[in-house]
Amino acid sequence: MTFVDHLSVYGPGDWAHAIESLTPKIHPIDRNATRVWFAFFPIGPNPDRLETSHTFLYGHRFWPQVKRAILAAAKDAQWPSVLPELISRIAEHATRTTQVDRDQLLGITAASLLSLRRAGLEAFNASSSAVQLPSWSHVRSIRQVRRARASQRPRPLGALFGKRFRVRFSEATPEAKCDVVDGATIGSALPPALQACGDSCSGACIIGVIGGAEYLSPMTTVEARQLQSGGQIVVKSVSGDPLIRLACHARPHGDVSIVLRAT
Ligand SMILES: [Zn+2]
Repeated sequence: MTFVDHLSVYGPGDWAHAIESLTPKIHPIDRNATRVWFAFFPIGPNPDRLETSHTFLYGHRFWPQVKRAILAAAKDAQWPSVLPELISRIAEHATRTTQVDRDQLLGITAASLLSLRRAGLEAFNASSSAVQLPSWSHVRSIRQVRRARASQRPRPLGALFGKRFRVRFSEATPEAKCDVVDGATIGSALPPALQACGDSCSGACIIGVIGGAEYLSPMTTVEARQLQSGGQIVVKSVSGDPLIRLACHARPHGDVSIVLRAT
């Protein structure tokens, strides 16, 4: 049996359960991002997005080392049958070259393994081994990323022009941000090219919330129904806030960081 055959034994439910059980061990910076990734890619990303689908995970910075650890594991003769144990063991192996603790590597390791399962070993091996982030973003510390991700501070001059909140829609692109007036939806503030819905919501404006989920308006029945009818897996943060939302419905009352599913 090859390593990919071994990975293929696990179905989407097994991967979801594995992420659930590993969540307390995943570093807080990637707890929500990992859940969003698995909600977006329950059977793995398209093979042409092997090295780019997980750039919104902080652990993506360690993709080259994690990829190497996975390729080394693929040469073993046997593997742990329990999926969380397999993910943990490979992440542990990668810590030898990353100089960071395993908690920062669990999310990217799990995402990379599911990517391998879908793409196959040849494509995985051939994918770029470089970090897919600009260098300024690559070197940001966890504290810097966390600070930019979510807060409840209104923008300066808020009292004059009404409260505004910042929405970042790609942490690796400084200009990928917009300000949302208090009470407006995220969708209304996104650049026109990124507004997935027209006059009425088509359900195409799905976003993953990797920071500040607690600063979004509660999910309405209409939004929940629309997500459900689109077949989108809905996941929540540890504190119970939905992480998969519709941009046309979610209204921020604090700064948030999101990922557009369409990109
Ligand atoms: Zn919409």
